[in-house]
Amino acid sequence: MATDQAVERHSFQTEVTQLLHLMIHSLYSNKEIFLRELISNGSDACDRLRFSALTEESLMESGDELSLLVSVDKKAKTITVRDNGIGMTREEVVENIGTIARSGTRQFLDSLSGDQSADARLIGQFGVGFYSVFLVADKVELVSRRAGEAPDQGVRWTSDGSGEYTIENIERADRGTEITLHLRKDDEEFADAFRLRSIIGKYSDHISLPIRMPDEDEKKKEELETVNKGSALWARAKSEISEEEYNQFYSTISYDTETPLATLHNRVEGNLEYISLLFIPSKAPFDLWDREQRHGINLYVRRIFILDDAKYLMPSYLRFVRGVVDAADLPLNVSREYLQDNKDIERIRNASVKKILAELKRLADKEPEEYARFWKEYGKVLKEGLVEDHDNQKTLADLLRFSSTHGDNDTQDVSLTDYVKRMPMKQKGIYFITADSHSAASSSPHLEIFRKNDIEVLLLSDPVDEWLVTSLNEYDDKTLKSVAKGALDLDDFTDDEKKKESQEREKDLAGLVEKIEKLLGEKVKSVRVSHRLTDSPACLVADEQDLGGNLERILQSMGQEAPEAKPIMEINPDHPLIRQLTPEHDKLEEWSMVLFDQAALSEGAKLSQPAAYVQRVNDLLTRASLLAS
Ligand code: ADP
Ligand code: MG
Repeated sequence: MATDQAVERHSFQTEVTQLLHLMIHSLYSNKEIFLRELISNGSDACDRLRFSALTEESLMESGDELSLLVSVDKKAKTITVRDNGIGMTREEVVENIGTIARSGTRQFLDSLSGDQSADARLIGQFGVGFYSVFLVADKVELVSRRAGEAPDQGVRWTSDGSGEYTIENIERADRGTEITLHLRKDDEEFADAFRLRSIIGKYSDHISLPIRMPDEDEKKKEELETVNKGSALWARAKSEISEEEYNQFYSTISYDTETPLATLHNRVEGNLEYISLLFIPSKAPFDLWDREQRHGINLYVRRIFILDDAKYLMPSYLRFVRGVVDAADLPLNVSREYLQDNKDIERIRNASVKKILAELKRLADKEPEEYARFWKEYGKVLKEGLVEDHDNQKTLADLLRFSSTHGDNDTQDVSLTDYVKRMPMKQKGIYFITADSHSAASSSPHLEIFRKNDIEVLLLSDPVDEWLVTSLNEYDDKTLKSVAKGALDLDDFTDDEKKKESQEREKDLAGLVEKIEKLLGEKVKSVRVSHRLTDSPACLVADEQDLGGNLERILQSMGQEAPEAKPIMEINPDHPLIRQLTPEHDKLEEWSMVLFDQAALSEGAKLSQPAAYVQRVNDLLTRASLLAS
């Protein structure tokens, strides 16, 4: 019964102190969210208790109904939020409240924009919710006892948010957690039951646990009133839900203050019964590219919250979708492992994916401007779908947007359908080029012959595009072809006379080509006369089966071994620099090297010996200027 332990004083972890400072001094535009955060934590604590009690019944102790209690002391200017959920041990309090165990905190601090409403939105997303109490309080007291522990295992934690907290052991008969906020002078307006009710109505109405408040009437103070509707929005009929309610619900689950780009509410009956309410946020979440990021689907079973971050309910390329799935027939004690290979979950996922893609298709067809906004936010992620999701490849391909030589800037707004529609009769394939930037793609020498013949080429510059084109081999029966690979198949665009002419040229240049090839040695697979260049003297081409320069560079930058594949160098027989070369030219070696390096540079490659390149160019320039003078 040793509960008379002294009060210990601790410092917060540095990050916590930074965060608190920031909370208090700059995030004051949306203070009321503190209540949402406390209710959400209390509700989580009850969910966790219910979940653990499925296997360890004794945790429920007295067995009283799980609920939250919010009360106000108008005179003392305090607000108290109490739950009878799982509670915390002393260690857990230190761990969860004194430090920010999550690596997210640093990232949170780094991603603050200085824009208050956007920053306030981040608070929830990063799971640093508890500290929002210091938005309105200058002293906070938390008492807790973990379910299943003895009454003398209670703990009290207090802090004024300025860098330190105290912690001590106490007696506490009730399991669960109680948090008391001593309001700041400026924030005493929150010591008002009516105000708190309206905040609960706004943010927490859908919480399925009863949230109770004492009756306002002083005389009936002992009576408790349930202030949230608690009716899960998704379970109501579509026709009875206003857009406003959908948006409000969306903001409570996503912490996003903007309205969603799309809302999909769907009730499925029959042998697999479930409801899904899914949202596509207008803006991509900050952690879209974080591998550890939480997925956005919460799983319920008959209105009871089971788990968040239900990865198996949405494929990775749709990880930005937020919402809930409420399945009627799953057991309440499902685990993440159970979900992994559950047939029902798989069917729900497949149906949800189809719904989302159909909605995107509708947007693309009927509201192209909305779709353009969507593409800008999520295009890169959606492209992963072509690699991951073969069942839906056709639909996904329809949703793709690219920039192209026939667009006038680098916006990605050309669909494959547009492209195919514009193709001249005699064009066989869909041409594309990949590079590490839009400007590198659009200025590539490989495009010269296409420009000359007015053939459209898609300009691909997202890293994921390389994988996209290996998965998507054709569209509408037309093969996708890289303009930088293999021999060109533009015969239909050249007349016979030209063809004959170039065949003769090739014969004339055979000696030079052979000599250059020998001089370049190991650098190239071969050298040949080009049919794709009009302005540049030379370019590098990958063999049909090889990876190609851009993909090789991407793999290398990811620290991966790229299979060694040498390029083919093509030379432009009409270029003056090539025309002055003969197999006997005394500087042919220098010229060959310079042409090779230039071709690599124009592809966006880095030279292995830039100084040697500069030296050679300078030598050749000096010679040229001496000859000219
Ligand atoms: P998050 O809820 O995203 O985890 P919070 O800052 O809101 O972040 O809470 C931090 C942690 O503190 C929670 O994960 C939980 O472990 C613990 N916690 C907070 N409030 C309670 C509570 N009422 N009951 C039990 N644990 C709590
Ligand atoms: Mg929380």
